[in-house]
Amino acid sequence: MSTNMTNSTGGERDVILREVGLRDGLQNVDVFFPTPAKQQWLLAEAAAGMPEIEVCSFVPPHVVAQFTDHADTVATALGIDGLHVAALTPNAKGAQRGYALGVHKLNFVLSASETHNRANVKCSTDESLERFSAVIAERQTQPGYARTKVSGCVSTAMGCTFEGSIAPKRVLELVEQYLARGADEIVIADTVGYANPAAVKSLFRDVLSITPANISVVAHFHDTRGLGVANAAAALDVGVRQFDASLAGLGGCPFAPEATGNVVMEDLVFMLEAMGMKTGVNLEALLAIRPLLREHLPNEPLHGLISRAGLPKGFTPASSISH
Ligand code: ZN
Repeated sequence: MSTNMTNSTGGERDVILREVGLRDGLQNVDVFFPTPAKQQWLLAEAAAGMPEIEVCSFVPPHVVAQFTDHADTVATALGIDGLHVAALTPNAKGAQRGYALGVHKLNFVLSASETHNRANVKCSTDESLERFSAVIAERQTQPGYARTKVSGCVSTAMGCTFEGSIAPKRVLELVEQYLARGADEIVIADTVGYANPAAVKSLFRDVLSITPANISVVAHFHDTRGLGVANAAAALDVGVRQFDASLAGLGGCPFAPEATGNVVMEDLVFMLEAMGMKTGVNLEALLAIRPLLREHLPNEPLHGLISRAGLPKGFTPASSISH
């Protein structure tokens, strides 16, 4: 493949993966995942070669208690050489915290679905865009804040539990708004698993066509209806080279009860490496982290087929082959 990228870890990768389980996954579980275990997870996954990890969300503790320890987890993550540290923020107040802590990337989220946006962040989508501008403006208040990149995520981009189908035109308008307001990266999220490979190809083709080449487009799929990995393959096919996923498919959506979580990171790594795309992630080292999740989340389902079936006999990951 021709689109080799070198990231801060120095390794050559065809695809950049981001682990979002510590944020997207843990925000949906009721139990508090102990801080030392979060730190252990971070260290182990970075050691497995994961280039970027979304560590936490800067939301008030009364909204999500899981992230009250964000100062500790962010400090641990920032101490890992070469790891890109991302965190989610819904507003400028959270962003201020992220800038001050020095995270490498802040991920701002709004929903293409007006109803989902109101349920999730208690304001209209247009008000969310104003909040995004405030996040960008906040970055200009201190010289040190400029080191942090800001990405704009369009959530429920391919369907919504409340509204059903979402017009691709609306998603493209929101991407244009993000770009006009200074986004460094665009994330398109199928939050509740409404996408299919044909719809993915069509939407991501359009998003890529209006996004400058120096701004990456990240695909964020949930495996709610079993199409997560197929959707990732479809996005890959039209040129997407950055993907979110979570270890053991941890995650969900509070407004979609019973929904399974994000695309399973282990299965996504397997698919990409089997297809000859270097992720730089060691699959065995990744699988070895699952017992930590089982220990601290005894009642959560852990998803994944590679963990169940094992690797095929003679499997040679692309990342192990040097050219
Ligand atoms: Zn998600």
